[in-house]
Amino acid sequence: MSRYVEVVDAEALRERAAQLGEAIAADYGARRPLVVAVLKGAVPFLIDLTRHLPPDIEIDFLSLTRFGTQGRVGIALDVSVPVAGRDVLVVEDIVDTGLTLATLRRIFTARGARSVRTVALLDKRPRRIVDVPVEYRGFEVGDEFLLGYGLDWQGRYRNLPSIWAVMDFPAFRDDPKTFDALVFPTAARSQRSRP
Ligand code: 5GP
Repeated sequence: MSRYVEVVDAEALRERAAQLGEAIAADYGARRPLVVAVLKGAVPFLIDLTRHLPPDIEIDFLSLTRFGTQGRVGIALDVSVPVAGRDVLVVEDIVDTGLTLATLRRIFTARGARSVRTVALLDKRPRRIVDVPVEYRGFEVGDEFLLGYGLDWQGRYRNLPSIWAVMDFPAFRDDPKTFDALVFPTAARSQRSRP
């Protein structure tokens, strides 16, 4: 079996983002959601998704940090506007254990948001620890480590246009250049020819 599998290609990502955007636009109707993307992984999805939302939505960002092994989550960068009375739509790259999302929902609810919903591009449902609602989901995925379209390893690969599954993580960690050559063949060639 191949070490790396492209699990969702760029066209499927764009198509699914469009479908989700249209469903969300229809559900919210005349309400004007505060769309909050979780940095950094949700950025490519946010861009494709919001092209299919009405032009009067508001977009904001939030970044989280994790402490220790218990998965405790803190805010590194907060949203820049008050959320009281707002219909908050959280945009996530992937929901795994659900700890991040559960914390976010708690924070926005405690601040008096009128409603909190989530759109997650990917859902690793079998790995859930906290039962948290995901109102809109793009794709259900297995428990392989995924890269690309916002998902990183050590800050890299977020800019890949599609999503890849790493089938043998230790082999990837020991030799990421094999993956680089597969997904960025031009970059790998130009690096080899550099003096
Ligand atoms: P949760 O709190 O649901 O366990 O974690 C969600 C976060 O874990 C995501 O926002 C993402 O940063 C990270 N994550 C979960 N699964 C993967 C994966 O397969 N690949 C990458 N790169 N990050 C992941």
